[in-house]
Amino acid sequence: MSGSAATLTEILKPEGRAAPGLPGDAKEGLFDRVSSLFRVIDMLPDEMSDEEVEGLMGVLPDDARKSLTAMLIPRAREGSLAFMKCLSIWLDEAKRSPGQGRKTFLVPFCFPPELVHAFDKGFPITSEVLSSLAVVALEGQGERYYDMALGIGLPDHICSSNAIEIGSMLGSDDFQPQAIINAATGSCDINAKTHELISLYHGIPQFILEKTVDDSERGRKQYRRNYLGLIHRMEEFLDEELTEEKLRRTCEKVNVCNELLAELWDLHKNVPDPVPNLFSLYTYGTRFSMWGTDAAIDAMRAYVDVSKRRLKEGAYPADREVARCLLTYTSYYFDLAALFNWMEEQGYSYLGDGLDLLFPITIDTSSYDSMVSGLAEEAWNMPMTHQVGGESMSMCWLEDALYSAKDLGANVAIYSGHHSCKQTWSVASIMREELMKRAGVPMLVLQGDSWLKRTTPIGVIQEQIDEFIKNVVSEKRTGKRKIRRRLEDKTSDSPSPREGEGRGEGAVL
Ligand code: SF4
Repeated sequence: MSGSAATLTEILKPEGRAAPGLPGDAKEGLFDRVSSLFRVIDMLPDEMSDEEVEGLMGVLPDDARKSLTAMLIPRAREGSLAFMKCLSIWLDEAKRSPGQGRKTFLVPFCFPPELVHAFDKGFPITSEVLSSLAVVALEGQGERYYDMALGIGLPDHICSSNAIEIGSMLGSDDFQPQAIINAATGSCDINAKTHELISLYHGIPQFILEKTVDDSERGRKQYRRNYLGLIHRMEEFLDEELTEEKLRRTCEKVNVCNELLAELWDLHKNVPDPVPNLFSLYTYGTRFSMWGTDAAIDAMRAYVDVSKRRLKEGAYPADREVARCLLTYTSYYFDLAALFNWMEEQGYSYLGDGLDLLFPITIDTSSYDSMVSGLAEEAWNMPMTHQVGGESMSMCWLEDALYSAKDLGANVAIYSGHHSCKQTWSVASIMREELMKRAGVPMLVLQGDSWLKRTTPIGVIQEQIDEFIKNVVSEKRTGKRKIRRRLEDKTSDSPSPREGEGRGEGAVL
């Protein structure tokens, strides 16, 4: 941090304004506040000593300090700094875009941003990444913006994942994109509608990429046509041709990112899992913002390198790995220390969540058509689009979760029970039954909001995860429950249930 003290003070306490992240000017938008904070983060050196971390914490507002303390924990520090550098480049480039003749596109997390990166005159900003950054880094954790959305009449069952950013765009003088790509049409109505509202409210054009409900080859062909149509509309809007050369430049970088992603996935298969829990979050934070750029390659490489080193050293934060947890959809983002780091310290490895179900491919870069097909295939496979937008939501979601649980050797599944996600709630019980029956993996169903701490406090979530793992997973592994049940059956003279009947191993739990 040498040499940056004066600038840092200037950024943190500009005259007449509250420090970034502090509740100052109510009209100050989420994007502006987050990007101010990341200007500080951008000054951080690639390696930081404990003393430097302590010094930094002394000047940060409380909520940012709490999150950064979690992220800069020594075992995750190198990866965290790489992630923050990547996001800092993203925010800085977005902010400078208008001055450089580039137009910014607001995209949802389910839209692969590499298509926008392939254009010279376009730049993507992602609603849910911005909402999550507000929850992680801003004082008040973005609740102000969620309340703004509700204040202008949006219902309280809108998804906080995008409502926080949307609330900022509706209720403050925030940075405005010049266009919206609406890629949730066909997979999440509420996401699609909130982005449409922004488009109408601010008069910003929106480009729709519709997921076909038909998952057969016919539906895929139509989706590729939809994707190509989107490219043409973007070309017209930006007055720029997306040439084969530009596509190749980006697709080659996408392929490197995808290789690193596959490597990280394989590293997760080790017992104990050498990948720090927080890296699952960083992986999709990188995927949804800077995929196909050098910044994303550097960040992904850092996550892989740290994990490999930890594997070699046999490093793990607990005495032993007790549980291997797969979260079936979203996670909780309002207390990183009390979820990701706490789990790891109990020996509960976080193998990933639904947003890590990215299934990377290698894009064939031999021709324009092969690259467009590859990019469309990636978009089709994105989280939410592939599962919630599938022909049969329960089947598609289950297939992905089952494959991942088996491939990664999960022994616990956790559904976060995200408050606003009515559609995933509708199949949670099917998922629980089938994961148990087909993979012997019990699933804990929680109730909470992934982005708002006021729905369920993190202490309650911790307690429920802990109890479930201790009472169901550990006992299942040691066979205590089976023994206890047999003893009870003998004493009560009632017929014992046949193991595996009907609900698989669930019958004896
Ligand atoms: S979490 Fe659920 S409600 Fe929110 S964007 Fe995803 S599918 Fe839609």
